[in-house]
Amino acid sequence: MTLRLSNLEKMTNEELAKKIGAIVISTFLTSAILLLLIDSRGLATIEGVYHRVRKGETLWRISRAYKVDIENIVESNNLRSPNKIKVGQYLFIPGAEKVIRIEPHDSQIRYILHCGTSNRWQYIVIHHSETAKGNARVFDRYHRKQRHFRHGLGYHFVICNGTYRRRDGQIEIGGRWKKQMDGAHCRANNGNRVGIGICLVGNFNKSKPTQKQFDSLVHLASHLCYQYGIPLENIKGHKEMSGAKTDCPGKNFPWKEFREALRERGVTYSSTTSMGTPGWLVLAMLPHLCVHVRDKVPDALSRGNSTRCVSTVYLLGANDKKLNDKNAVVAK
Ligand SMILES: [Zn+2]
Repeated sequence: MTLRLSNLEKMTNEELAKKIGAIVISTFLTSAILLLLIDSRGLATIEGVYHRVRKGETLWRISRAYKVDIENIVESNNLRSPNKIKVGQYLFIPGAEKVIRIEPHDSQIRYILHCGTSNRWQYIVIHHSETAKGNARVFDRYHRKQRHFRHGLGYHFVICNGTYRRRDGQIEIGGRWKKQMDGAHCRANNGNRVGIGICLVGNFNKSKPTQKQFDSLVHLASHLCYQYGIPLENIKGHKEMSGAKTDCPGKNFPWKEFREALRERGVTYSSTTSMGTPGWLVLAMLPHLCVHVRDKVPDALSRGNSTRCVSTVYLLGANDKKLNDKNAVVAK
């Protein structure tokens, strides 16, 4: 219900009074319904958002991206089986504040996550190669012959820029990732042990990552964050690791755009509520919690379900370290 200024001028006083009356009544009714929902259950209510399932998404990844347990989504949507979601289906995500764009799952990402069964990854460390050209094989040779790294390529991943017969934006997986070994890319702050090393081919003191490199980096990093629960503040440039003496990944690396793109995909700072509000805090806040969010609810749904609330407070981001996506069935 909206009042446009141009219409206002044409209205008579009586019409205007009627319109304002209608708004007041409808606002009152909405509030009353909300209060009823709270009182009848004795609990505060939290709303969520409707997420439209896209090709390649799984319920597991949707739950990771929104940091809501699968069971909660299954329950809220009366799903018979978590494996049965369809492209185009709307899922109610309890507690979510905005619709998140989930990166499509491809076979390479599936392979990468399949290799990555270790629980130790806490950081993502971004590097540039400081060379205009390159690929994983070239850097592997350099690391073995010049740097005398016994296990070769020091990075876990290389993102190519279209040189040396690699596609622009191609993600190459290093042997250290496949074997879940320490990297040899960042000694500072124990980066080799707990940091996933991603190198983008290029010298970002002179140029910037290509659009395809940027997209691949966002794609890879967001999946790694979902999988290992890595918060946004732990995605660092090499030079940001405390004690590092380098300007890697160069002054032109687009940090602002990169962090923004990750945020759009549901990667959050650990201090934000969705990354794990302590249980006692949620309980203490129970009587005061009533989040009313309807972000991008499809029209058909908003008519029938606009006041739908879920009468449970979900502890978001419970630190489940399930590293298994094998049973997930991909939406087709
Ligand atoms: Zn570096």
